[in-house]
Amino acid sequence: MTDSDNTGWTELRDAHLHLLNHGKALAAVQLADCTSVADVLDRVRGAHAALPEHRAGAPVWIDARGLRTEGLAERRYPTLAELDEASPGRPAVLKSFDYHALMGNTPALLEAGIEASTVDPPAGVIVRDGSGVPTGVLLESACNAMYAAQPVDTSAQRSEQLRLAIDDLRSRGFVEVHDMKATPELAELLLEMDDRGELDGFGVTMYAVPDEFERVQKVMRYAVREDTNRPVRFGGLKLFIDGTLNSRTAWMLEPFADPLPAHPTGIPNYTPEQIEMYMRRAHHERFDIAAHAIGDGAVRALLDAYEVVEKQFGEEPGFTLRIEHAQFIDEADLPRFARAGKKRAVIASLQPCHLLTDMEAIERLVPHRAARSFPLKDLIDAAASAGRDPAEMILLGSDSPIVEPDPADNIQAAVYRRRAGMDAERAIAPEQAITREAALGLHRSRIGRSGACEV
Ligand SMILES: [Zn+2]
Repeated sequence: MTDSDNTGWTELRDAHLHLLNHGKALAAVQLADCTSVADVLDRVRGAHAALPEHRAGAPVWIDARGLRTEGLAERRYPTLAELDEASPGRPAVLKSFDYHALMGNTPALLEAGIEASTVDPPAGVIVRDGSGVPTGVLLESACNAMYAAQPVDTSAQRSEQLRLAIDDLRSRGFVEVHDMKATPELAELLLEMDDRGELDGFGVTMYAVPDEFERVQKVMRYAVREDTNRPVRFGGLKLFIDGTLNSRTAWMLEPFADPLPAHPTGIPNYTPEQIEMYMRRAHHERFDIAAHAIGDGAVRALLDAYEVVEKQFGEEPGFTLRIEHAQFIDEADLPRFARAGKKRAVIASLQPCHLLTDMEAIERLVPHRAARSFPLKDLIDAAASAGRDPAEMILLGSDSPIVEPDPADNIQAAVYRRRAGMDAERAIAPEQAITREAALGLHRSRIGRSGACEV
């Protein structure tokens, strides 16, 4: 937490997160505040004592998260022998706070099929000792074998994760969230919670990727037919237009300073024609689109496609285009946010808190576009000059569990443009800073003001 003044943190909305994964992170053994290897091993021992050995004939894993070796006095991972001793006979996995590394004990390595003879996968490292024996530590893509080996959560576990996630979000002042990768199972669990009266007004709007879209829509159609005022809603389609900043796959208008060979401006996932095709479908079937677009190139491609479809349907596309992340927006595209769409419109759904973790990546990978990152001031001005309420055009979220859903972090980033305690000259695009009140306004839920869960 970076902003200790939490007055006014009520009726909040997180417009971009992943509910079940947030709950899964909460259900795991927490290592974030450990200060020594002994501390880490104590937590593992505690979990080992508390968990049943088997469930449905399979060993129950110890799943721990938040490990940060830099925060431990010894600045190292436990040794394999130490971890094995703390979790005898059952698989245990300790995940790094950033999910780019993990450590497995011997049973976990066995389950993942990792031994001395295993070759490092592309873009991954199996860390080994002097004689080539794995130490248990896996980096980057080498972690995937471990994720694949972990048992799939049972329906009871998911239900518990969902309850943990919603309790946690409520305690932080949220009354509404938007889930950005909904599954039919999530929809069913939420509807069951609502049937039991457990949601108690907590609003969840779901967006689903093309592979899950029809199945989620089916679950929701049936439920909503009976009661259109349910707090659980289906928003529409989630699309991934580009990749990410850190992997240099975001679709940028100008090349990265240190580009991927053969992909100097990142990697678009769709052609303009494909994007327009999805938008025509949204128009005909009356659902909204939430499109992941980190780079300014991806943002422009979406606005271009929206305007093509807008023209085709007589300036009334009939659906809302949410541009998720919009981490870089070219100056020329700003007025298009406020202008595009008449009744339904274009929305910028931002997570300014990512500026706090991405500062170094912005400076190193796109220094020439740093001034265009999270241009909150420009977006608010664009809304105002078009006579639109900024709170209807700009939504804030966290993308939890990538980061904690802590509104203080969005406020810190929006107001100071740098991490707490940093010198003012380190700020990224300080001219885009907005006031605390303005930032809080973009975090406010509209439930009860403009109808339930409306976006
Ligand atoms: Zn996300």
